[in-house]
Amino acid sequence: MAQIIDGKALAATVRAEVATEVQQIKAQGGVVRFAAVLVGEDPASQIYVRNKQRACEKVGIEFELHTLPATCHFDELANLIRRLSADEKINGVLLQLPVPPTVVGDRLTELLNLIDPRKDVDGLTFTNLGRLADGADGLIPCTAQGILYAIHSVCPDLTGKNVVMIGRSRIVGRPTSLLLTNHHATVTVCHSRTRDLAACTRGADIIVVATGCAHLLKASMVKPGAIVIDVGINRLADGKLVGDVDFINVEKIATAITPVPGGIGPLTIAFLLKNIVVAYRRQHGC
Ligand code: NAD
Repeated sequence: MAQIIDGKALAATVRAEVATEVQQIKAQGGVVRFAAVLVGEDPASQIYVRNKQRACEKVGIEFELHTLPATCHFDELANLIRRLSADEKINGVLLQLPVPPTVVGDRLTELLNLIDPRKDVDGLTFTNLGRLADGADGLIPCTAQGILYAIHSVCPDLTGKNVVMIGRSRIVGRPTSLLLTNHHATVTVCHSRTRDLAACTRGADIIVVATGCAHLLKASMVKPGAIVIDVGINRLADGKLVGDVDFINVEKIATAITPVPGGIGPLTIAFLLKNIVVAYRRQHGC
């Protein structure tokens, strides 16, 4: 049976480190402040934002929520992001995704790139993604950092490891493949147009799955002894929350595996907090 990678416990360690750093900053008279922008009333997005607010408050980060209705105009949203980016008192700015298509159309990239890269705590601006691709210092997307942290907890050295990343989204798959490559893994990226997914995954020492397809990764696709990281969050018809991995069967042959819930989710929020403090320190040169 695989070792269960306890994302909640790992996240608690990261959050405690952040809390200590925030206290040190406060002791020197500083204030760490984060602004989230929420457009519309999508219930899932409201829950995600509330979780971020609670997490910030617990570690002493000041949290501001800026809401706009789903009927707002693109320019109104763009101006809000410009204003928050220019506000010296704010250290991190995040646009909660998805933004209603009626507001953003096909201009999401343009909107994201209005965030000052020094405050881009989701790491989604071209500047930060480019820095990650170059292996240079920047703000790295939170889920990718959470995935690396989870892997490091069971495999401290990725040198020479064969990793298969399933999914190539801007927010998870792509940045994770870059980050793991920077850590000397040999990374194969698979996606919905990959011809024979199982042929790729069977050779992998580590498999990271981020597709949003419940139970996509079956035991027959996993090499015995592999590490399996499940990023997916899927709500089944009966209300149960599951990942992208057929957990019950894969657990029997993997060496370590993340659960859903309680795996990468808590780590993603912990690394958002970490990014906010990193952003503060870089802005203040401390
Ligand atoms: P996305 O829809 O933007 O991207 C999905 C990716 O999976 C695409 O690159 C697509 O090519 C690939 N894919 C889809 N079906 C596939 C298939 N059958 N075989 C191979 N590849 C396939 O999604 P996303 O934003 O990257 O999120 C992926 C999942 O991760 C979702 O369930 C999401 O809720 C979850 N997620 C979790 C966290 C977290 O903190 N735990 C954070 C972000 C996203």
